[in-house]
Amino acid sequence: MNVILFGPPAAGKGTQAKRLTTSRRMVQLSTGDMLRAAREAGTALGDRVADIMDRGELVSDDIVIALIEERLPNAEAAGGAIFDGFPRSQGQAEALDEALARRGSKIDVVLHLIVDEDELTARVRKRFVDEGRSDDTLEVFERRMHSYKEHTLPLIPYYQAQGKVREIDGMAAADRVFEAICATLDAVPA
Ligand code: AMP
Repeated sequence: MNVILFGPPAAGKGTQAKRLTTSRRMVQLSTGDMLRAAREAGTALGDRVADIMDRGELVSDDIVIALIEERLPNAEAAGGAIFDGFPRSQGQAEALDEALARRGSKIDVVLHLIVDEDELTARVRKRFVDEGRSDDTLEVFERRMHSYKEHTLPLIPYYQAQGKVREIDGMAAADRVFEAICATLDAVPA
């Protein structure tokens, strides 16, 4: 099964994706984690994306599509992928559908985590203190939200047209959110 965890920055996508990998046979594919790893390793790719990430803007579609395509065979072998922070633009969504179709596969469900903006701001403040993520300042968060509304949220109608969107209340405690996600996935036809 291939699942997209969809939602604004700090909605809890990464936390829930990690939980899913331990309870189901699926691999987490987080483009944010891949890009951060490239930066930490000091690769040419990491150098190329560092400023863009620190500004809270989107890196180019070609870069993230290539990162994802590289990992699809492994995810398929494991039993499926949880896409976390990808796709974030129409071009990425279409490229993902095409790449999966070429492999005789598809997205099964899009879990839309709904969290209001005040709560997201509070979480970002906390994450900045706890984890020191360089893109978790409030100024960068605002740019990330802007880019989410402009480029990413419009993907909801795209996936709705395919009948794949399920809304999840992301305001609840992490355990409750996880239960809601599991119940939703159990209801998706295999
Ligand atoms: P994340 O951890 O998913 O919030 O990603 C951190 C940063 O990496 C984002 O603010 C973007 O600069 C970049 N990034 C991650 N995933 C994508 C994507 N799918 N498309 C474009 N940029 C991305």
